[in-house]
Amino acid sequence: MHVTSLPMRWKSGDNYCYILTDESSNKSWIIDPAFPNDIEEYLLKKNKSDIVSIVNTHHHNDHSGGNKYLSTTIFKNIPIIAGHDSPGVSYTPSDNEIIQLGDNIEVTAIHTPCHTQDSICYYAVDKKTKQKCVFTGDTLFISGCGRFFEGNGEQMDKSLGKLMSLPSNTIVYPGHEYTESNVKFSLSVLGQKNEALNNLKNFCIKNEITTGKFTIGDEKLFNPFVRLDDPEVLKATGLTDPIEIMDKLRIMKNNF
Ligand SMILES: [Zn+2]
Repeated sequence: MHVTSLPMRWKSGDNYCYILTDESSNKSWIIDPAFPNDIEEYLLKKNKSDIVSIVNTHHHNDHSGGNKYLSTTIFKNIPIIAGHDSPGVSYTPSDNEIIQLGDNIEVTAIHTPCHTQDSICYYAVDKKTKQKCVFTGDTLFISGCGRFFEGNGEQMDKSLGKLMSLPSNTIVYPGHEYTESNVKFSLSVLGQKNEALNNLKNFCIKNEITTGKFTIGDEKLFNPFVRLDDPEVLKATGLTDPIEIMDKLRIMKNNF
């Protein structure tokens, strides 16, 4: 398994497009190619027939905005795998449905409604090398989560719970590079003594790109949105009910 991270709309939206490749067959998915102009250099070099599907994590324009152009020009008539609300979608996998990519990659579609109701995360496992990764769109960010545009804290808690049940060595590929600002908020909630969070802060000082460098196991240590029983989170929110804490954390982050 190989993942190429392609930054788009850098310093304004900090979006990522990803190419997930099965190395044995060289077949790839292109995930969230919202701004084709920003990834033109890569697309010109790539053998077009190796891209077998356009895939979206959710319908927002900064994830699905390239569907129409790409499926009518460069990647004519290839399937668009996404939730029901994405433009031009041709296939919506059901929750936990497994889709084969090339010879060795099995991708499980995990429905994670809240940021949008059509949010789907894609958990990819290479059967041969045992590599694992998950494309989390705007549901899970490194040390953060997406805004609750179409859902509530209860839904986000359930959706993040599904992702946290994945193997701890699963690498996280989020929809945006928001880590630096997330760390500032997480420090304000989890305090200065969280070692994993301090390590993440130091990583951000030295590295502009953090996607693909951290795992589900790391999130459990440094992401306040999945540490709803952490004494520091209880103290910062002044609440004890996990759903109420989730809603309050999101409001605190929105106003941070
Ligand atoms: Zn979004």
